[in-house]
Amino acid sequence: MQIQTDMVVSIEYTLKNDAGEILDANDEAGPLHYLHGHGNIVEGLETALAGRSVGDSLDVSVAPEQGYGVRDETLIFDVPRKNLPQDLEPEVGMQLGMSSEEGETVPVWIRSVSAESVRLDANHELAGETLHFSVKVLGIRPSTPQELAHGHVHGPGGHHHH
Ligand code: ZN
Repeated sequence: MQIQTDMVVSIEYTLKNDAGEILDANDEAGPLHYLHGHGNIVEGLETALAGRSVGDSLDVSVAPEQGYGVRDETLIFDVPRKNLPQDLEPEVGMQLGMSSEEGETVPVWIRSVSAESVRLDANHELAGETLHFSVKVLGIRPSTPQELAHGHVHGPGGHHHH
């Protein structure tokens, strides 16, 4: 069986940046299960896994455009300190949640703090990074109709919202 669209794929992976620092790995949570071809994982990694079989190991470098995107300077903006919660003592690197116009909470990071304002950055934490994955394919199975309808994996390692 080979990895193709609509298959449930189980992988173990390590993600490093250009400096070789580990950014993420599946380790404690067990294998990662995803639905292939549905954008559950970054595009560059999904493309590299297509056609692979159980037991295959691969090293994949993913450019930002096929990863978490390039950094967007328009997502960096200043907010007056008086607009922040009163009990918040802003610090560089702190993560906050902001409400988008659609009412969703989006994570933002504090880049700098001045007397009057804070500079916030709504880029994805890994935007602009080239992603270096080491991946091993542990399992491949057909998806269920319900998984296909939802666009994600159910059961162990998947979503548990049912
Ligand atoms: Zn579901």
